[in-house]
Amino acid sequence: MSKHFERALVIGGAGFIGSHLCEHLLGQGTEVVCLDNFVTGSPDNVAQLAGVPEFRLVRHDVTEPFRVDGEFDLVVGLASPASPRHYLRLPIETLEAGAFGTRNALEFAEKHSARFLLASTSEVYGDPTEHPQRESYWGQVNPIGPRSVYDEAKRYAEALTAAWFRSRAGDVAIARIFNTYGPRMQADDGRMIPTFIRQALAGDPITIQGDGEQTRSVCYVDDTVRGLVALAGSGHPGPVNIGNPHELCVREMAEQIRDLVGSASPIRHEAAAVDDPRRRCPDISLAKESLGWEPRVSLWDGLTRTIDSVRGEPIAAGR
Ligand code: NAD
Repeated sequence: MSKHFERALVIGGAGFIGSHLCEHLLGQGTEVVCLDNFVTGSPDNVAQLAGVPEFRLVRHDVTEPFRVDGEFDLVVGLASPASPRHYLRLPIETLEAGAFGTRNALEFAEKHSARFLLASTSEVYGDPTEHPQRESYWGQVNPIGPRSVYDEAKRYAEALTAAWFRSRAGDVAIARIFNTYGPRMQADDGRMIPTFIRQALAGDPITIQGDGEQTRSVCYVDDTVRGLVALAGSGHPGPVNIGNPHELCVREMAEQIRDLVGSASPIRHEAAAVDDPRRRCPDISLAKESLGWEPRVSLWDGLTRTIDSVRGEPIAAGR
């Protein structure tokens, strides 16, 4: 059985994944302090938790040193612009979140003898030459391309976390999160699924970058959060891939969303993004063996829940 945490600091907790993680931890009886500077997130994402006595929201930039009163046994480092639109607009802030933010989070965790969980990304694999990607693969990243501000920030954050583990016996874990989707993604942040949903609902053309034959493997946010919590509770240092190995091409994704929305939007192709990976699919053998974790939510189910949330419809129980 996974370890129970008494009190968690969720850095970047007012973002998309962070807000779901805060809810999940509270549901398990963990007290949560959410620290966020709202650069890409928003207090609205955790507004439903405002009256919960075990929840506290602190506005702070993690790249600046900080103190939070009380004891903690878990620190989760999610603070970073994550969508291409955001990190291309905030290149220096993204690098600093990976570097200074991770350093401050590790020091805070060390002071509290808390476990530290780093939210890394499948982007550390870059445009991969191995497929599917195992944790042992070192990746193929352009260190000076526009996307490098995100990819290299995360690679540095991993290196720092791994060094903390080796040289300071830190209780750490690295999660390599693959594309995650679900309610509370921003409709205009440039990520594929919210963009396609917004376009399909409006009846606008669905815009695909490149030929649409590039593949993605997308994981519903509840599954990602269960994976993060399983890794936090496991004692495993990682890196561990957290993602859904169901791979499909971007064109199929656009068509599926259009069908689920019931839209007649045409599909339009645009120029491919610079350094856009052709294929992306996690090998999750390690997560299955060491955490007993694998995704449960089907693409159809996850997309339906996400579309319902964008439409403002309640999510049907038991789906
Ligand atoms: P998000 O932008 O919704 O959330 C990030 C949160 O961090 C936001 O609330 C933002 O305001 C906060 N933040 C950023 N810089 C900060 C700083 N300096 N100080 C304090 N708070 C700061 O993104 P997300 O999709 O929820 O991603 C969360 C984490 O998971 C990120 O680290 C991201 O790299 C990682 N990740 C996400 C995905 C995905 O598909 N969503 C995939 C791989 C990895």
